[in-house]
Amino acid sequence: MKAQVFRGVDRLCYEDLPQPTIATDEVLLKVEVVGVSPRDLQALKSPDTEAPCVLGSEIAGTIAAVGESVSQWWVGQRVATVSRVPCMRCRECLRDRFSLCSFYQNITTTAGLSDSGGGFAEYVKVPAHLVHHGGLVALPGHITLDRAALLQPLNLCLAAIDRLRFQPGQQVWILGAGSIGSILVLLLKQFGMRPLVSDPNPDRLDAALDLGAEAVFAGSSDDLHTKICAFTDGEGVEAAILTEPSHISFLNALDGLRPGGKLVCLTDYADRGAMFFDPMSVMRRQIDLLGCAGMSFRLQPMAIDLLFDHRLPLESVVSDRLLLSDLPEVVERGTAEKTATRKILVYPH
Ligand SMILES: [Zn+2]
Repeated sequence: MKAQVFRGVDRLCYEDLPQPTIATDEVLLKVEVVGVSPRDLQALKSPDTEAPCVLGSEIAGTIAAVGESVSQWWVGQRVATVSRVPCMRCRECLRDRFSLCSFYQNITTTAGLSDSGGGFAEYVKVPAHLVHHGGLVALPGHITLDRAALLQPLNLCLAAIDRLRFQPGQQVWILGAGSIGSILVLLLKQFGMRPLVSDPNPDRLDAALDLGAEAVFAGSSDDLHTKICAFTDGEGVEAAILTEPSHISFLNALDGLRPGGKLVCLTDYADRGAMFFDPMSVMRRQIDLLGCAGMSFRLQPMAIDLLFDHRLPLESVVSDRLLLSDLPEVVERGTAEKTATRKILVYPH
């Protein structure tokens, strides 16, 4: 089968790999569509990513084979995947920190090289833990595979909103109008909140307005918070969600909050250099700094309901559709400075 194998920074090779073999309790999935996540884009540019591997975790497809002992799934079924599933029994799962669970961290779909998602290939193996504990979601006939591939980012955005615990009517500043920022706009509107969006790219801001943003702010300079404060009568916002991996954006978000505000960090940092900010400002203004990584399995029933409910126009966050053979071009497009790209969907077949 064909796969895009990561062989080092900026080295994606379109290669032939053996189709994964499955054990009696596993499932083989034909990858019909896979979403490119911000984490994929970062991993493809990072020297920390172990090569060789096949990335890509936001997979929707058709079941191609099932092991002898698998009775609840059958060949030909259309499914969305959840590429990582926690155990729901450990202390991390008990306090909703699912991405810290060892099951979540160590078991995932694979194209055969390593456990790294594997969606940038024609077929992936779904391991037994995922097959039996919610890693496959059967799709009703009216749900397209494109929409199904958005299940995981949809859940991630729900998890971020859940961390804020805020009220309808509140303004929330979303920094970054890429795929995650766009889904956040849709969800905040759905829940009666008022999204404000900033991004360096004007096309992304136009799209955010179309999705329902109350106001948009161009640029990413270090005085962006002054525009936010001016827009909120000098008060600042109750909450901000950081989806841009940028130190300047982090500092802007902190300074754009009103006292008692909350900041959710929902981004991977490729740039790990030192950053200076005044912890006294966080203490005196009683700011809550909140980290959010990975999906919430407590919220998965809600995520599936929203996925299956066409009132949420999820597909409108998709900006690009390309073949698997064109993945290197996709990566360049997705990581370019001031990119207009939002969600990229890739088709292996
Ligand atoms: Zn656990």
